[in-house]
Amino acid sequence: MLRTSLSRLSPPSSLLRPFSSSSTRLTSGKCFPIPSKTQSWIDGKYHGQSGEEMSNFSPGTGALISTVEVATQATIDAAVASAQAAFPAWSALSGAERGRILTRAAVLIREYNSEMSLLESVDAGIPVSETEFVQVLGGADCFEYYGGLASNACVTGQMMDTPHAGGHKDSFCYTRREPLGVCAGIGAWNYPVLVMSWKVAPALACGNTFVYKPSECTPLTALKIAEILKEAGLPDGVFNVVVGDRTTGPMLTRHSDVKKLSFTGSTETGIRIVKEAAETLKKVTMELGGKSPLLVFEDADVDNAVGAAMMSNWYTQGEICSNATRVFVHKSVKEEFVRKLVERTKQLKVGDPLDPLTHVGAMIMPPDNKTGHMDRVIGYIERAKADPRNKLILGGNTHTIEVAGGKGGSGNEGCYVEPTIFECTDDNSELVKEEVFGPVMSILEFEDEADAVERANDTIYGLGAGIMTNNLARAHRVAKQFQSGNVWINNYNLTPSEMPFGGYGMSGYGRECGTYAIDNYTQIKNVYVEMGDVDSSCYP
Ligand code: NAD
Repeated sequence: MLRTSLSRLSPPSSLLRPFSSSSTRLTSGKCFPIPSKTQSWIDGKYHGQSGEEMSNFSPGTGALISTVEVATQATIDAAVASAQAAFPAWSALSGAERGRILTRAAVLIREYNSEMSLLESVDAGIPVSETEFVQVLGGADCFEYYGGLASNACVTGQMMDTPHAGGHKDSFCYTRREPLGVCAGIGAWNYPVLVMSWKVAPALACGNTFVYKPSECTPLTALKIAEILKEAGLPDGVFNVVVGDRTTGPMLTRHSDVKKLSFTGSTETGIRIVKEAAETLKKVTMELGGKSPLLVFEDADVDNAVGAAMMSNWYTQGEICSNATRVFVHKSVKEEFVRKLVERTKQLKVGDPLDPLTHVGAMIMPPDNKTGHMDRVIGYIERAKADPRNKLILGGNTHTIEVAGGKGGSGNEGCYVEPTIFECTDDNSELVKEEVFGPVMSILEFEDEADAVERANDTIYGLGAGIMTNNLARAHRVAKQFQSGNVWINNYNLTPSEMPFGGYGMSGYGRECGTYAIDNYTQIKNVYVEMGDVDSSCYP
């Protein structure tokens, strides 16, 4: 993930309708409303509680955004009970009625795009040029898409004649697609609105109710989506948000009234969740990590190949699961490719996520260890520098920025890493094997197609893969051989709502988006219809 479309027009800028909270000045002199206290959203309203609190920091500055009331077991129970109580009425609505609400939510998300984008950028460190033009609008697209599908998402059963079933020759069976009940989602921090929308929109379209837990690093925008869904007419209890830390997710995983869990996060956590969810036989969808390849052939348009490599490494400061961090370039075009890549990358502006001119924003800031993720990324870079199998070509350092209020003062401790390029000679080095989750690209050389495909597939992951070539037959031949859930030909990381997204191998299972996501949120009931007498002649 993730660019739903690159050709968006700017939304109207006169949409500053306030959310229900006070204003906070965070950086760059911009002023907009952010709640000073972040609470869970249960049964259509914020749910105050006493107990443990944690801090939510802005990656761009290190400033405290808000204090988060960490959900307790009682909070989780209340959220699940609310979703359970709302299920009968919500699932009994016609698909068209549910779809109308989701479509209205899509319209409202677009109207609130300016505020939502700022909030997402403050919370996640993603440049506002991305959140405003791609990520929030991508969430709106997702609600609109499933709003449209809702009227047939749950009624697409099959009818089969059953002449050999031992009954009458006219007997038959039919299937019904039915919702599951209370579904839960646990999200990662790297593109919070989209991660959430991909789970919630199809689940609600199918008639389920939902409890969502955003990442502890980015609790804010899921709550705003909850407010928007209510404004769109969603009945209370159909969608609930529980905010908390790493202790909160397991309470949802174990909850016996949660019938389905969709998880986005690291492979390590995913494995833990699958084991725990098995105790209550929950259906699970796993959207996990990746270490994806991009193959640049000698017949590719080199400028396009450079563009694809940049979009798949620098976007969202490299914090994208499907990023093509292993770029295999044919020997004959490698020099030109590297020269052009370095030229263009040097022009990128690393800095304040709220500055519209910024290309590369801030590394995420976990509440319990503000520099933890940046330190992890820099750790990979330092070890790669010390490894003779890698040659540093560009970047390789942290980056300091000046923000409003002067350097060194409170709120000027953002986490930034320069876009970093290594040329690598060994596919088995740590840098080439492991998911770094930062702006760090490895370039590898190849000469032979079959060898390149084999090397591309030599990973435990299988989330994305790309091929740049003008040879039509090669494009499809290689696409077929990639061991990956998503393949892009002559582009990378585009993920419109219509397109199923998910992984092979240790990148997970199940598919989000497209009509395939309907399988995640429905169960099949078979109904046998006897058209004749019961044949009980085997009994006296
Ligand atoms: P993470 O696994 O640390 O955390 C993800 C979520 O799981 C958080 O909300 C966290 O609170 C929760 N959690 C942690 N421990 C838990 C437990 N034992 N039980 C239940 N929930 C628990 O991941 P992260 O650092 O937030 O995200 C980065 C990772 O996510 C990267 O590996 C990235 O590749 C992956 N990712 C995958 C996709 C995809 O679609 N495949 C998309 C985005 C991110």
